[in-house]
Amino acid sequence: VGADQVVTDAAVAASFAHDLTGRFSGRPLLVVRPAHTGEVSAVLRSCARAAVAVIPQGGHSGMAGGGTPRDGEVVLSLRRLQGIEPLDQTAQQITVGAGVTLEALQEHLRPFALALPVDHGARSAATIGGMAATNAGGALAFRHGMMRAHVRGLEVVLADGRVISRLSGLLKDNSGYDLTSLLIGSEGTLGVITRVRLGLERLLPRRATALLALPDIGQALEVLRLAHESVPSLQAIDFFELRGLRRVCAHLNLPAPFRRDHEVYLIVDCAARSDPSEELEVFVGVVEDALVATDLASRRRLWLYRDGQNETVNALGVPHKLDVAVPVSLLPRFLGELRVRVAEIAPAAELIVYGHLGDGNVHVNILGPPVEDVRVDVAVLELATALGGSISAEHGIGLAKRGWLPLARTETELALMRALKDAFDPAGLLNPDRILPDLDPG
Ligand SMILES: Cc1cc2nc3c(=O)[nH]c(=O)nc-3n(C[C@H](O)[C@H](O)[C@H](O)COP(=O)(O)OP(=O)(O)OC[C@H]3O[C@@H](n4cnc5c(N)ncnc54)[C@H](O)[C@@H]3O)c2cc1C
Repeated sequence: VGADQVVTDAAVAASFAHDLTGRFSGRPLLVVRPAHTGEVSAVLRSCARAAVAVIPQGGHSGMAGGGTPRDGEVVLSLRRLQGIEPLDQTAQQITVGAGVTLEALQEHLRPFALALPVDHGARSAATIGGMAATNAGGALAFRHGMMRAHVRGLEVVLADGRVISRLSGLLKDNSGYDLTSLLIGSEGTLGVITRVRLGLERLLPRRATALLALPDIGQALEVLRLAHESVPSLQAIDFFELRGLRRVCAHLNLPAPFRRDHEVYLIVDCAARSDPSEELEVFVGVVEDALVATDLASRRRLWLYRDGQNETVNALGVPHKLDVAVPVSLLPRFLGELRVRVAEIAPAAELIVYGHLGDGNVHVNILGPPVEDVRVDVAVLELATALGGSISAEHGIGLAKRGWLPLARTETELALMRALKDAFDPAGLLNPDRILPDLDPG
């Protein structure tokens, strides 16, 4: 890759070695920055010969510690895989390098009025390879699906350097096991994604965003029901609470959006061929207050109250951060019991929750208890599972939740996952110890 693309200087390598939340860090042996698939393959062959662990890393915006090295591991940074191939307007598909950021792809596609219908607040950092590797979700997922729904093919380098390439973009291809699709959501444990073929959707020209104020989460579900029934232009419906709003306003120096406080807020995004704001009138009388914006700058200002939550929490301290999903109709029960359990375990803790209402995805943030005190983490994950939910909605398992995977998966499923890991990476060098828990010695 050239000597200047191998970072051994500890000070420089440090920028690849700490995750955004401050929960994970290590001292990597070195950071390697290949520029194309051939170099990725050569680096993996060298690492396999030397039997050193390799941590694929994209934008390093992940929340589960999967892309953060531990001491002595090699960081394989994919950010230089920046190729954007010509748009296939007939198939409405494009192939891009794994290191292209979501924002760069959005800008590239805007003149064609096309988009990848997956979006989230880390768009300037998150790479398409990292988003495929984590099966990223975001605010549009309840309407359009997660990354898996839009990946039409992958090029992947295996741990020993061999390359498999399925980039023809065929929607219909039942010729045996779909091997590359196993890589989606595998968090860098099965192979390194180098190129991604994506299916795109047409950007609808007229947009409206509403910030709705509500008395409680139960009423938020009523808004969701109405939205499904009468707002066909609905694209996203996220929620946050008063505590989070106050913290965001203080941290980002924003004015309070409404004259008085409300317990719950929804941010609703709509898109259509003609102005969708009229559809929002269905919420009059159901909400306590509302703000509607149709131009880009005002819509972005409204979204800041939601998108600023993550950054604000990280600025307040090292949080216990749990991304869970519960059946949507059980959200009020989940949030109610969550508050009680956290208060029992850590009475002084600050609880900030927000998330994607449409698919029951809650981001739980608990500030106060020391990081090593995992009692609140266990309580949140057990509560979500008891209600039929998931211990990881969209952020993955990584290092953060591997110990708790047995809460969500049976022994049979774990055994199959281990067999897959052995088949793809028999020496166990790619992202070792991520996702899969240690084998029970008993
Ligand atoms: C403000 C903020 C908001 C966010 N909102 C959302 C959201 O709404 N929805 C959501 O799903 N996520 C969200 N995230 C989490 C994160 O942005 C996503 O998980 C993103 O997809 C990670 O992409 P990345 O390039 O940063 O990957 P990284 O953080 O670098 O890596 C994540 C994992 O993927 C692996 N990996 C990375 N690149 C590759 C590759 N090319 N090949 C193989 N493995 C690879 C890594 O080893 C690691 O295990 C948010 C993060 C932030 C900071």
